[in-house]
Amino acid sequence: MELIENPTCDLCQQPLSDLEVLRGLFILKPCIICRTCKKRFEPITGMKCRQCGRDVAEVDDNQCLDCRVWMKRTNGQIKHVSLYHYNEIMQHYFKYYKFQGGYHLSQLFCSEIQRTIRKMNVEVVVPIPLSDVKYSARGFNQVEAWLGTDYQQLLKRVHQTDSQSKRTKWERINSSNPFSVSTHQPYPKECRICLVDDIYTTGTTIRQAYEVIRQAGYRNICSLSLVHA
Ligand SMILES: [Zn+2]
Ligand SMILES: [Zn+2]
Repeated sequence: MELIENPTCDLCQQPLSDLEVLRGLFILKPCIICRTCKKRFEPITGMKCRQCGRDVAEVDDNQCLDCRVWMKRTNGQIKHVSLYHYNEIMQHYFKYYKFQGGYHLSQLFCSEIQRTIRKMNVEVVVPIPLSDVKYSARGFNQVEAWLGTDYQQLLKRVHQTDSQSKRTKWERINSSNPFSVSTHQPYPKECRICLVDDIYTTGTTIRQAYEVIRQAGYRNICSLSLVHA
């Protein structure tokens, strides 16, 4: 029985099995990637850095080396959770999702991200905003697409920086803060805020976001990213 004409996996382009297609119809959530690709995503498990959430082989005060360096430079602690490693399949995912307009691929991680946020027991969910240039190039904010409708645009970009990936680590760290907090803030200062980003790389972006939100008077901040690079 041919259910849909040659459905293929959106990541590896191999044909999906009839069982995968059938299961998708049954749970009313069309299957978009095959089981083989799905299994290749690698969750972060084991001992984690208490600040950035990466898994660490050796821990000193439960912090990774990067976070200890950050502490010396900025003194601002973060409380970040990352769900997956940035392995090959994840890089593949982001290639299709962010750079080839694969908006529908947001559904792969929607439920898991929203479930994780619910468990974090936060009141205000704040996605990291994109620059206008990136937003118009991409047509959507990849973090907002995971969050559904339950988020607040508390952060704004004040100046547009070049693509972070073109900079060196220290250029990124030394760059001035690209964020500001929206003047419209109907939230009590003690509310619990969760910042959400796609990839934690050097930690610069997330720490800059913490910094402006702290400066606005909020104290109860945590953060989440799908991936820790
Ligand atoms: Zn596949
Ligand atoms: Zn760390």
